[in-house]
Amino acid sequence: MGHTITVKNPATGQLVQEVKINSEEEIKVAIKTGHDSFREWSKVNAHERSRLLTSWSRIVQEHKEEIAEIMTLENGKPLAESLGEVDYATSYIDWYAEEAKRIYGRTVPASSETKRIIVSKQPIGLVAAITPWNFPAAMMTRKAAPALAAGCPFIVKPAVETPLTTMRLVEFAHEAGIPTDVIQYVNGPGSVVGNIFTSSEYIRKITFTGSTPVGKNLIKASAETVKHVTMELGGHAPLIVAEDADIDFAVKQTLATKFRNAGQTCVCANRIIVHENVVEAFSTKLANEASQLIVGNGLDKDTQIGPIINEKGFDKIVAQINDAVHKGAEVLAGNQYKVDKEKGYFYVYPTVLANVTSNMDIMKEETFGPVAPITTFKTLEEAVEIANSTPYGLAAYFFTNNYKTGTYLHDHLDFGIIGWNDGAPSGAHIPFGGMKESGLGREGGIEGIEPYLETKYLSIGNF
Ligand code: NAP
Repeated sequence: MGHTITVKNPATGQLVQEVKINSEEEIKVAIKTGHDSFREWSKVNAHERSRLLTSWSRIVQEHKEEIAEIMTLENGKPLAESLGEVDYATSYIDWYAEEAKRIYGRTVPASSETKRIIVSKQPIGLVAAITPWNFPAAMMTRKAAPALAAGCPFIVKPAVETPLTTMRLVEFAHEAGIPTDVIQYVNGPGSVVGNIFTSSEYIRKITFTGSTPVGKNLIKASAETVKHVTMELGGHAPLIVAEDADIDFAVKQTLATKFRNAGQTCVCANRIIVHENVVEAFSTKLANEASQLIVGNGLDKDTQIGPIINEKGFDKIVAQINDAVHKGAEVLAGNQYKVDKEKGYFYVYPTVLANVTSNMDIMKEETFGPVAPITTFKTLEEAVEIANSTPYGLAAYFFTNNYKTGTYLHDHLDFGIIGWNDGAPSGAHIPFGGMKESGLGREGGIEGIEPYLETKYLSIGNF
């Protein structure tokens, strides 16, 4: 293991910054420091914790342009998307600043006249988070804000590709007055830091956003000390276009959900399932719109599609396209690339594939790239069967103006997040999370603070 992480701009391959990797000893000290801050932080009253979170959000907003530029430099996403992500990230802080004041217990009628029963909630203790590179700000605040609001100290390890956004966000939290031992970051490779986190007796909860295989390992490793876990894992979202759908609207929404962040989001539509009577109209329009999207450096103001995060991600996308084409898919747009392996940048032009079948890798594996594979269905039962034929269960979308079709699809799709005529169903106020191998637990909404709380019950006798 080297001593630094080299953060590179995926748009150009140029060095952005060298970041120190923390030693095992330093990480263990950070964990102990976080643990030691628990009693004091948990006693800070909820209104004060709320006030501190609100100050943090305000300071981040005051530095919105700076954070957005850091994000575009290390992640590659277009600046407009980075600015949007800063708002998305602070919306979680704002939401949980309010929820801090609404952590309620209850009284329970006793079975004897001599007893009183009180149920209360208390913070679970030190929380460790591991976050991915695709939403460097929002995936961090979606965890930090409810943890801090609940009264838990928080320590985060960001992805090696994108540590800078997290580091700045933590600095802003300290500037807001949240104690330095209550919110901390450490840097290093996931496998190393993950082991230190899961084997620590001081950490009571692991909250992770990333791939399903890594999530499974973290769940196993957390069992050793029976830690709480929240897992936001991979997805393979179906998007169903019914025969009666408003095709222009469905195309617009598909573009938004498919090509945001160059298709590198866990809720990206990954299997587009269109009724056979409207597939021609839908595919032609989607291909036409997709081929007009502007690909380039996220710092250029016209850019709509940035680079792929790294060579590994790029190779996976190209392999899926080649596999599909080899097995009979038709390229309606894209399948073009701009690559400089030596400099280290990799762009994939928005690609639309028709005649996609279930034996193609793209219908089974998460793509994480700007590729829209289209397949067809005849009956709603068939659409549901295709949609549910995956171990994932994060997001699903469907487009229909028929309430019976919509209700049927809602009832039968095994996914945690459903967008009905809505390609952007996320928000701080909703419970985000997946079924099946897409995860455990929810983030956001009133559900998002619960995983940071223990239930304690008190029975008072001898009245
Ligand atoms: P990843 O490889 O699982 O990495 C995510 C984080 O886990 C990084 O910080 C990484 O560290 C760390 N990590 C890697 N190996 C580890 C190990 N053995 N133990 C502990 N931590 C480890 O995922 P990715 O490819 O970067 O991110 C994309 C994935 O995230 C996709 O599957 C996507 O669907 C999922 N995702 C899910 C959601 C959601 O809300 N459900 C949101 C966004 C993304 P390094 O720095 O060393 O890489």
